[in-house]
Amino acid sequence: MKIAQYHGEMGKNDLVKFLKGEDKSVLSFAWDRIYITSLFSFEWKKTADSINFALKAANGHADRIFVGGIAASLMNEAFKAEPSWRGIRFIQGLLDNAPAISLQLDDFSEELYSDDYESTPIEFLTPDYSILEQIDYDYSVTDAYFTYASRGCVRSCKFCGVPKLEGKQRDTDSISQVVGDIEKLYGPKKDLILMDNNVTASGKFKEIMAEIRDLGFQKGATLTRNGTTAQRRVDFNQGVDARILCKDPMFLQEMSTICLSPLRIAFDHAGLRKPYETAIRFAADAGLSNLSNYMLYNFHDSPEDLYERMKLNIHLNEELGIRIFSFPMRYQPVDLKDRSHIGQKWNRYLLRSMQLILQATHGIVSGAPSYFRRAFGDSESEFKELLALPHKFIFNRTYYEELDGKPELIEYKSEYAKLNDSEKEELVSLISDRLPKQYPTAVNATKNSKIKKLIPFFYHLNGAVERKIWDQQAEYRKRAKVIEFVVPEDEKVEDAGLEVA
Ligand code: SF4
Repeated sequence: MKIAQYHGEMGKNDLVKFLKGEDKSVLSFAWDRIYITSLFSFEWKKTADSINFALKAANGHADRIFVGGIAASLMNEAFKAEPSWRGIRFIQGLLDNAPAISLQLDDFSEELYSDDYESTPIEFLTPDYSILEQIDYDYSVTDAYFTYASRGCVRSCKFCGVPKLEGKQRDTDSISQVVGDIEKLYGPKKDLILMDNNVTASGKFKEIMAEIRDLGFQKGATLTRNGTTAQRRVDFNQGVDARILCKDPMFLQEMSTICLSPLRIAFDHAGLRKPYETAIRFAADAGLSNLSNYMLYNFHDSPEDLYERMKLNIHLNEELGIRIFSFPMRYQPVDLKDRSHIGQKWNRYLLRSMQLILQATHGIVSGAPSYFRRAFGDSESEFKELLALPHKFIFNRTYYEELDGKPELIEYKSEYAKLNDSEKEELVSLISDRLPKQYPTAVNATKNSKIKKLIPFFYHLNGAVERKIWDQQAEYRKRAKVIEFVVPEDEKVEDAGLEVA
């Protein structure tokens, strides 16, 4: 949106076209510039497809293509090493220098705007909201001021790309200026989305909260536009730091004076239990009851560690009368080209099981205890057994727990109960080491007759059987008037990767 501002009507007055995905209509134009943003490094394949499409749109003129964003910054060398992309500029970090410098333009070859050493750096321009209207895709949050009160972070957590991307913690210039500029150009926005990595670490934390209140985002604030009044919302959408929040109730008391919703706090491993729990209690005391929580897993944690964290949230919900939605987020190293990383205490099968459970819950661990118990089990050991179940049982729970599949699940459970712990481990590792179509080979890979008997339960269902099961389940849900769990719009995580096998 900032690049569009640089080139658009209020900037260089160039024609700007915004694409999401491949829109073949652009192939009939001769474009001077094509900018691509990259996000997660594990989306390498999709990013590569976009770059190759851009090369087509640029008629092979690699020097007209600029790729920036997170993956291009974190894996800059890997992008540059691709021979077919020679000549493309892969930009690291922010465009916070003069445009000609940030975009690495070559004055000698008289590139477009290569003499632009005077304009405001693109990073500091007001985002151009109008480009969002150029595509059909509906972003869940658009009626908002998007900005930062701070960049960077005081910490350097090993799993996080922020230290490398943004460096040390620093405050930005006034958010009032950004909000005022957006309002002047595009009218007032309902919400305020702050993408700070760690606002609580800012030395100006109290001033930032005061500024937010002064901008009209105090507790309970509303906005009236064209005769309609709507509740306003402030969202620090990258979360706030429990290790700082737990030190002084002041932080959450201050945050409770703005229309914060939800309060997002990360809970990355069970070792953070104490600060996390204290922060949640401070939040509840301050009257903040709508909470959201990212939970890293598949890093140094184990399934038990993840379960303990999820369960703690359920307890806190019940005890404090609050609502914490948790989002387990699967760790992937920030420089891996796919999602293949397997943490030391996880394995491929357990990760896939977790993904299947999350698909059914739309990626969320809901605060409702009964819902939680059904999805994740009543104890750590139940959770582990759930993860070790044949996937057809997880994926079609209604059929196997309530309908015609019941006898098969009962039989499986009674055979499984005959295994000791090391046999259970052996079973799951035999399965985990193989792709589904190779499961039958696991039978000959063990001498244990109890395990041999259980392996066929893991075989995948054929299409016709699966369809029959789905039809029966759909019919059952209709009959029983099962109410589907609806994820609030502002809680949706677009790239949770739940659909990826
Ligand atoms: S505190 Fe958050 S933003 Fe900062 S390094 Fe750790 S995970 Fe990243």
